[in-house]
Parts: sequence; structure tokens; C-alpha cells
Amino acid sequence: MENEELQFRTQEPVQSENSEFKKKLSMMQSFASAITSRGLKNEKVTKPIKQLRVLSCFGDKDQGGVLPPCEHLKNSKTKGKHFCGGCGCGDRAGTWLMSEADGYSKLDYPRLSCPLQMPGFTNYEQSKPDESISPITRRYYIENYPYEKLETIKVNTFEPPPPPQKKQENKPT
Ligand code: SF4
Repeated sequence: MENEELQFRTQEPVQSENSEFKKKLSMMQSFASAITSRGLKNEKVTKPIKQLRVLSCFGDKDQGGVLPPCEHLKNSKTKGKHFCGGCGCGDRAGTWLMSEADGYSKLDYPRLSCPLQMPGFTNYEQSKPDESISPITRRYYIENYPYEKLETIKVNTFEPPPPPQKKQENKPT
């Protein structure tokens, strides 16, 4: 892909249900599934998956790349925070995509759906062949993203503490 010539198309959220009621129900089910996946121990998604999610939502322009942010990414009324405008979850602390360093943000949930079924999300679907034709989709671009570049995407994430060391017993000689 020649970066200078790249053009990205816009995409509408996948509408699997057609009535307002069904859409709300589906949103609530996704949210409930995300909450359950957090569990009692505040489980978080792994770092590589979170990097993919960050790339899907925020793009990489602020890290010198060419991928623009998702068109459904919204600025919160709270400075420096963002939420997804595609899923209808609104603007509040619990729906902010990224939080402070050790906080728990929406992109941390082990199970999380994206209205565009983007890479890194539980409902991710592989791009269709026509998505590689210009203007390409952001999804297709991310699928072809070099792994070594993905590893440089900055995220705050949970690093599990090292396992406790076994105390050496002083055996009688
Ligand atoms: S969750 Fe999906 S639709 Fe929402 S901002 Fe992120 S990539 Fe876009």
C-alpha cells in the first residue's frame, strides 16, 4: 500500500436489528456481556488486543502514521476523554474509551463489541474483498498493519504482578 495515495472510506455501524427496541436490547446485552467479562477481579484485556482496539478507535496519526481516527470517535465534554458515538452508550466516565494510567476504561473489558466490528473487538469480522479497493476501509488497513508497528502503540494496561517466590526452606543437613 502506497501511503501517500491512501484514501479511507467512511462506514456506518452494522445494523443487525431494525427496530429501535431491538437495537437498544442488543446494546444492553453487549454492555452486560462486557461487565460480566470484567468479573470480580477487574480482569483486563491483554496488551496486544488493547493496542489493536486503540488503533481501531484512535488511528495512528498522533504517532506519525496515516490512519485517521474512527469517524464515530467523539470528544467527551470532559477534556481529553473520548467515547464511541456509534454504539449509543453516551458520554460518561464509564463509557470513556481510555482512562488514567491505572484506571479501568471501556477498552479494558475482556469482552467488548464495536459497531463497526473492528480488529481487537469481540465481534470483529474480517474485511470483505472489496474493502481493499480504494477508498479502502480502516479495517482492511489495520489487518495489514505490521506487527512491530502495532507493538509501539501506546496503551495503559494491567501488568500482572510476578508470581510469589517460594521461600527457600532451610533443610536440616
Ligand atoms: S468502538 Fe468501533 S465504532 Fe466505536 S469509536 Fe471505536 S472503532 Fe469506532
